Amino acid sequence: MPVRTDPPAPALRLRVDGDALAANWRTVDAMSGSAATAAAVKADAYGTGIARAMPALLQAGCRDFYVAHWSEVADAAQHGTDASISVLHGPLSEADCAYARATGVRPVINSINQARLWQSTGGGSCDLMVDTGMNRLGVRPEEIGNLLVAGLEVDTLLSHLACADEESAMNERQRAAFAAIAPQVAHRRASLANSAGIALGAGYHFDLTRPGLALYGGVPVLAMAGRIRQVVWPEAAVIQVRTVSAGETVGYGATFTAIRDTRVAIVSLGYADGYLRTWSGKGTMRFGEAVLPVLGRVSMDMTAVDITGAPDIAEGDWISVDYDLPEASRISGLTQYELLTSLGHRLRD
Ligand SMILES: *Cc1c(COP(=O)(O)O)cnc(C)c1O
Repeated sequence: MPVRTDPPAPALRLRVDGDALAANWRTVDAMSGSAATAAAVKADAYGTGIARAMPALLQAGCRDFYVAHWSEVADAAQHGTDASISVLHGPLSEADCAYARATGVRPVINSINQARLWQSTGGGSCDLMVDTGMNRLGVRPEEIGNLLVAGLEVDTLLSHLACADEESAMNERQRAAFAAIAPQVAHRRASLANSAGIALGAGYHFDLTRPGLALYGGVPVLAMAGRIRQVVWPEAAVIQVRTVSAGETVGYGATFTAIRDTRVAIVSLGYADGYLRTWSGKGTMRFGEAVLPVLGRVSMDMTAVDITGAPDIAEGDWISVDYDLPEASRISGLTQYELLTSLGHRLRD
């Protein structure tokens, strides 16, 4: 017989600060000058959950959204009925094209083949990606004159920067290439800059900027430090507290040995939740003001922390994981993008 009882509250949650998300969008929008500011919401809004992120972004004033896959459209469309939504990967099949038309979503055309597919199934408004040096997606500059490309009804002409978060001569090369291509293609808007690209200055803004990382609390370049607020706060419940006697070890591989009797909490968060093994012996969590260092290896569903600083912690108490992205990236060796998008579904649901 099917069980109809609602499950109890989870022992794991991701607090997403919608006010900080909205504030970050307004900050990068102000940095974008007279250009409009879109939002990349691919990968479930960088792991924050599109259902939470999109309403906050719409409320802040964002009207243009980018997802990567067609499978991401339904969620985005549900939370942004009047929004403009584009699919970065473009169409691979007639079914993709039909779906775009049925949902009113624009494909980003990335190749001659995609241009042919879109045109042969009826054409209509689309975006066009030109490759200015990254050699990932996009038609090459010399393909712009191709009739299949020239015949497209382009809403937004796009290119993407390969090195925006570094001081690289490549940025100016890509900017100049994009500026030279733009007059050759009829389009409504031109768009080049991701989060880091916005900080490169007005010459990179064109008509529309496309931040992702910075909206979710990532700081891609020093120019944004102190202006971007933390959005993502992983929290997990304590399953058990125990005392580990001096000389005993904790966890797989017995990599931590207590040098004195130590109060330890087992927290219900592990590498299956995106709290990867790189945090073993390195991460910290927090209970109020008290800092709780990770002891030994992170398990699949659990992590041990030293609660000497907060000895009153009890089973069922909630612990906050230190997850300030620039700092967490420095300590873990993971990129800020990986820290966001590896967060598991048990945290988000
Ligand atoms: C993901 C993505 C963005 C957003 O990049 P961030 O570095 O996260 O700001 C912008 N444009 C394209 C084409 C992307 O794929």
